[in-house]
Order: sequence, then structure tokens, then C-alpha cells
Amino acid sequence: MTRKKADDDTIAAVSTAPGRSARAIVRLSGPRAMEIAGTSSSQDLSGAGPYTSRTCRLTLGPVDVPCVLYLMPAPASYTRQNVAEIHTFGSPPLAEAVLERLLELGARPAEPGEFTKRAFLGGRIDLAQAEAVLAVIRSRSAEEERDAQRALAGELSEKVSAACERLERLCVETEASIDFVEDGIEAVGPSDAAARLEKILGELPAGGAADDSPRETGVIAVIAGPPNAGKSTLFNALAGGDRALVSHISGTTRDWLSAEVEIDGVTFVLVDTAGDSPPADELSERIRSAARGQEASAQVSILVVDAAEGPDAAFLTRPRPGAVLVALNKMDIAPGADTDDVSRILPGSPVVPLSALTGGGVDELKKMLSGLVKSGRVPGAAHHAALSLRQKRALDEARRALVRGIESSAQGLDLAASDIRDALTALGSVLGWGATEEILDAVFRDFCIGK
Ligand code: GDP
Repeated sequence: MTRKKADDDTIAAVSTAPGRSARAIVRLSGPRAMEIAGTSSSQDLSGAGPYTSRTCRLTLGPVDVPCVLYLMPAPASYTRQNVAEIHTFGSPPLAEAVLERLLELGARPAEPGEFTKRAFLGGRIDLAQAEAVLAVIRSRSAEEERDAQRALAGELSEKVSAACERLERLCVETEASIDFVEDGIEAVGPSDAAARLEKILGELPAGGAADDSPRETGVIAVIAGPPNAGKSTLFNALAGGDRALVSHISGTTRDWLSAEVEIDGVTFVLVDTAGDSPPADELSERIRSAARGQEASAQVSILVVDAAEGPDAAFLTRPRPGAVLVALNKMDIAPGADTDDVSRILPGSPVVPLSALTGGGVDELKKMLSGLVKSGRVPGAAHHAALSLRQKRALDEARRALVRGIESSAQGLDLAASDIRDALTALGSVLGWGATEEILDAVFRDFCIGK
């Protein structure tokens, strides 16, 4: 297993959540953590034993602030580096002043998730556990929190490691059988290999997709509405790019586009449909029926209403499967538009006023979308809080390779060997084996600073 080496400078950050609290914690990690914490509090911390605490005063300009130092010398710490925490009163300006002082003394401001990244690089936790830290932070319900805590405690990692170990053994035996076939040595036979692969497949953690269908990989959220309401602009705002072609010419989205997006830990397959205009010719009739088909498979329908035009009751009240929410769009040019006008037509469905063009209100829509799933109001959308999109994809990849391996072993071990290796690579990546800097950046980017 390849692991990158942990960085060797000393980082610092406020690790308590922003805002007032009973106590604020400023955390240091790195080789100079003890020295910097010691200088800031005029203490000699060089001989600190494992997990010790000291009460002291920190001099910040003209004032002396009481605080408690918690010292965790390497390797018995979260990051496996020297870690020092300064606990003081929970005032945000005070915590910032303490941090400033540590930076003056030579610490570097930590990047998002950098403490957890160091815990991973130091071999303290694997990547599945690092992602579980984020899942714990983001959990919105007791159930999600429990799931995430179990992953953090290593439940997912243990299952995946056990599967990896069995695959590794099978890999070695398969390759030995291929290499020594002429000597009549068969460490494993094709049917035995297939049976072992099936057992591994059956015991993989649930939560990834069983096949390629979007329903399995994410909650299908279909953006629907009349032409020019701003569906493509909203699609782009939610997908975070210029994936959909946006135009002021009515009917530009002739087909449909889809993008997979993760919002607050929930994966959505976002679908931008063609506008709902009356058909003028055969092609537009076909496009319209394709759009209706997309709408019929929606688990969530995002109905876009042009605030400047007002709601269309016939469109809004059309029967739809799943949950419905309304985006009252173009509020930037129709600031007087009233959400009640929509609520009167569609009582009980949330209405979010926004401007897809300026981005105002789009975050509220995102919160509403993930909230619908997390509160169980979206039919068929099992939410696996503890699994990140990256992990689901890796598990899917492993499942596909295992299925291929089972099928190919019937034709000979030579063919199965590469599928077994593929399954092992995919499963290992759940734990962070061979994780590149890009993968780590993508994982830790979503963390907050100080974690
Ligand atoms: P679609 O046909 O529903 O996909 O609509 P588009 O996304 O192509 O948008 C139609 C037109 O409305 C384009 O000129 C967009 O720039 C404009 N538009 C979309 N959203 C907004 C908005 O929130 N405010 C304003 N002022 N214009 C918008």
C-alpha cells in the first residue's frame, strides 16, 4: 500500500465551530507544536508526557488570557504528529487572537481538513474513516450520525479490508496456478475461484449501486417548467458549471442533460428537460414526450416558475411522482413576486424564491433538496450518510469487476486474474490505497478548517 508522507511543517487553526460557545479550541499539529504552544504561554513543554494538560496564561498584547493546554506528543495523537490544543473562552475574536499569536510564532494556517488529512497520511486512519469524519460533521439526524460514527470506528474499513485480504490471497493463488500450470500445480481451480469471488461479492458493504442505472447512483431530480423559465440556467447553477447550453431563444434545450451532483452529502442525478411548449412539429412532439418520460421517472421534481410571468396552474398541478418543490426564478427582475401565488396553487410544496442567474437563493434550494431526502420525504431514496460518492463509485467498480471475474473464471483463470486485480484495486481505493494528491484534494476540500 502506498501512502504519501505527512507534511512536516506545523499547522494551526481554530477547531471549534464558528460563533459563540462555552470554549474555543485552537489546535496545532506538527514538529514545532510543543515549542510554539510553549512560547505562547511561557512554559517549557519539551518534556511533556503523553496526553497531559496544563493551566496557564497566554499573553496577547496587553492582556493575559487564562487557558488550558492539552498536549499530545507524537505518535499518540490524532495526526500522529505533536499536537497541542489551547482551550480558552468561547469568544470568536479571542480564538482568532490566539491563532494570530501562533502564526506569528511560525505556525502556518491549516487548510480545510488538513488535520484529518495528516491523520490519514500518518497512518492513523484510512481514507474511509477520514471521509466518515466529514459524514459525522455533516450528519443531520441521529441515524445518519450513528452510521457515520460506525464508519469512523472502522466498521466499513474492516469489511473492505477483509474483502481485500481474501482477494489478495486469491490473486496470489490464481497467478501461481497460471504460472505453474505445466507442472500440474493448481493452487485454485476455476470453479473454486468463482465460488470465492461470489462469497466476497455477497459480503461487500451495501450502499453502492448494483448496476449503472441513475436511480441506484443518485436521487433523480428533474428540472421542469415552461420554455425560458430558466431551467438550464438553474441546472448550471446547481451543477456548478456551464454544462447546459443557456439561451434566450425559446426551446434551446431540445433533449435532456444530466449531471451527478453531491449536495450536503446526498448524490443527485440532476436532469434538465426540454421546455414544456405546445408541439409545433413531429420533432418537438418527440422531444416533449421524452421530457414527460424524464418527469415520470423523477424522484424529486424541481418546477421552475418565471416570477416575471407568474405561475401556470395547469403545469404546476399536473400529477407527478415523488416530491415536488418549486423554484420561483428571476426574482432579480421581479422582486415583487409572491411565493403565496404559487402556494395557493400547490399547497404543501416548498417554494424557494431565487435567481438562477445571479445565484441568489440557490443555496436555499440546495438545502431544501438535501433536506427532502434526509427527512425521508423522497420515495425510494435510501440515503447512505456514511458513504461518500467516491466510496460508492469504488464499491460499484469492485462489484462490476467481481461479476466479470465470476463470469470469466468459467473460461479460464487467465481471464479471471485481471478482473480479480481490478476488484482489488477498486476496493483498496475505498481505504485510500494509491490515493493521488488529486484524490486527497477532492476528499478534503469539503472539510471545514480546523478539522
Ligand atoms: P430554459 O428554456 O427554461 O432552460 O431557460 P434558460 O435557462 O435557457 O433561460 C432563458 C433566459 O432567461 C436566458 O436569457 C437566461 O439568461 C434568462 N434567465 C434565467 N434565469 C434568470 C434569472 O434568474 N434572472 C434573469 N434576469 N434572467 C434569467
